[in-house]
Amino acid sequence: MIKRVSKTNIIYKFSPKNKPVETASPGDIIIFETIDCLSGQIKNEDDSISAIDWNRVNGATGPIYIKGAEPGDTLAVEILDINIDDNAFLVTVPGHGVLSNLKFSSKIKMLKTSKYTTSFSSLRIKSNPMIGTIGVAPAYDEIPCGDLGRHGGNMDVPILTAGSILYLPVSVKGALLALGDLHAVQADGELCVSAAETSGEVILRVNLIKGRQPKFPILENRDIIAILAFGNTIDDAIRAATEYAIETLMVSQKLSFEEAYMLGSLVVNLRINQLVDPKKGVRAEIPKDFVKFEDFLTV
Ligand code: CA
Ligand code: ZN
Repeated sequence: MIKRVSKTNIIYKFSPKNKPVETASPGDIIIFETIDCLSGQIKNEDDSISAIDWNRVNGATGPIYIKGAEPGDTLAVEILDINIDDNAFLVTVPGHGVLSNLKFSSKIKMLKTSKYTTSFSSLRIKSNPMIGTIGVAPAYDEIPCGDLGRHGGNMDVPILTAGSILYLPVSVKGALLALGDLHAVQADGELCVSAAETSGEVILRVNLIKGRQPKFPILENRDIIAILAFGNTIDDAIRAATEYAIETLMVSQKLSFEEAYMLGSLVVNLRINQLVDPKKGVRAEIPKDFVKFEDFLTV
């Protein structure tokens, strides 16, 4: 079955209390219409950053109740396609981004974009449409859509594109999947606090893995499996991603810690997702020659 969820159904917190706006079964395809990360509040370069309502950031469309999903399961979200709007924007906000210590002003830049190319003034950049915010409801907390965690959220992972599968640990009945904050293109780090922020639609298929979960959200594409770890500091995030990668190599290759640690030095790539959200995000990418998704599932 194909379900469509309109962008009139927006949440600003991932919460077990959110009322589902649609239900879907494993195997169903869902089309999510999404709004941009500032809820359409930016229309042109003269708009005022100080007028922005920061309570309406990273709005996610949903949530969708997935039939049969229960705490302890894993929701597999297969991204089939991402269609983006032909406009995007960037902002600088004083006190934010990697260079938050420097003095600079707030600025808005509008970009023309397509699935293929994003124009930044006269420069042309290859587009890479991706999902910034996607998650399920946490067990008890209400987590703002601008934050991230084990439930997913504002992970800003540049490789979360069409053709990838995202595995999210389910904490509540029905999982309550929601997503938004599309980017036409973003580099690792998201330096200035924003990417090429845009709206659009995401076409995906949901499936369930019953009774088993990874410790962190996991992304799989054709070549690699990536642990999407996070921490209050980049060091914490790096350590968490590395520990889980080495543990998994121990299981998949039946190695001692020391041997797995050494193999990790050769084949695990640590990469930055973003450095500008409330928690910092790191991914450990492991080639599929050495691990399979099942190795990441704890019993
Ligand atoms: Ca974001
Ligand atoms: Zn964004």
